[in-house]
Amino acid sequence: MSDKSFIDKAKDTVGDIIDKAKDTVGDVTEKASDTMDNLGKFQKQSKLKAGYIERDEFKNSNFQKGFFCYNCIYWIDMSGGKCMIVDDKGPDLFGKVSDVIAQHGCCSLYSPNFDEINKQKVVMVD
Ligand code: SF4
Repeated sequence: MSDKSFIDKAKDTVGDIIDKAKDTVGDVTEKASDTMDNLGKFQKQSKLKAGYIERDEFKNSNFQKGFFCYNCIYWIDMSGGKCMIVDDKGPDLFGKVSDVIAQHGCCSLYSPNFDEINKQKVVMVD
């Protein structure tokens, strides 16, 4: 093989590698951009759409047992209670506006947090 054809082949190979790298970087950049767009579009469900209810009768329940926001994987214990997927503003199914996702609330998107449900309570007895 002559030096010239060897150099031409090497140039082609390097060119191919650079083209493939460009495609890969382009794909990664495009996917990252799509992901950021989707995150920006994510909106929490309204309490009404989620079928959220909050009844005062359940305020003093054992929240570790039963269907309560308290033991749902989406519940966040802050500022009176928040949810990762349901907006805390607006009325619930009964028209009650509390501006929180209460620990004694629940909705149709409930998903059990078994770590919380199975957590042992320590009872101190004198
Ligand atoms: S039950 Fe519904 S509102 Fe409550 S924390 Fe879970 S997803 Fe959110």
